[in-house]
Amino acid sequence: MIIDAHGHYGYDYVFHCEFTLESHLKKMEKHGVNITILQPGETHYLEDAKREHDAIFRAVKEHPGRFYGMANPAPHLRDADYNDEIKRCVQELGFVGIKLNTCASATGPGSKDGRRVFEQAAAHNIPVMVHTGAGPFAHPCMLAGVARQYPAVKIVMAHAGGNTHGCEVPLVMDLCPNVYVESSGGAAETLRQACRRDEGRRVMFGCDHAGRFESERAKIVGFKLGDAVTQRVLGQTAKDVFALA
Ligand SMILES: [Zn+2]
Repeated sequence: MIIDAHGHYGYDYVFHCEFTLESHLKKMEKHGVNITILQPGETHYLEDAKREHDAIFRAVKEHPGRFYGMANPAPHLRDADYNDEIKRCVQELGFVGIKLNTCASATGPGSKDGRRVFEQAAAHNIPVMVHTGAGPFAHPCMLAGVARQYPAVKIVMAHAGGNTHGCEVPLVMDLCPNVYVESSGGAAETLRQACRRDEGRRVMFGCDHAGRFESERAKIVGFKLGDAVTQRVLGQTAKDVFALA
């Protein structure tokens, strides 16, 4: 079983690029990917986020069992707008997680708006995927405070700190048993060490962009961690963390 836990679909209003559903379907057919968790790119306004979430919901309905949805309204929306959209995504659309792109939205995880994301995740009992890497908002160590404040919320470090901040990942994993790692764009040595921890139960595979499937999978398979750990990282961890059916 292969699950891509980090699949962008729709228009990204920060990076100005379009991610298509066709690219995910092609990736899934060509490489035997069973499930992709779709999330929108960054938006600024509520109506854009709603439209992107609705498009993901349609994809989920049209391809039963193949796609799940992750909500990503702009973290700086007004409280009522943000909270209501998360509630709609979870209760009406059946989404399984929330994305916080610290970098693209300029939101520190421990800031007022950052904490609201984790409050909502706690209220709805769903995980949060957080962009980690370089920059003023994205350092993995910035997650330690909120991860300890919300110990019941599963937090997934997308990109495992990227190329520059992987050294903080083992520290955060040591301090916070509710923190997991997603592999896309992560440095090989960071990921190899994280995969060895708890036999792969805290690392999940992701592509970020559908076209990166082969290079991202090669990274995991190349670690030669044995079938059980490799299969856990490629699929089972995401299934467990996001409680997929
Ligand atoms: Zn992303």
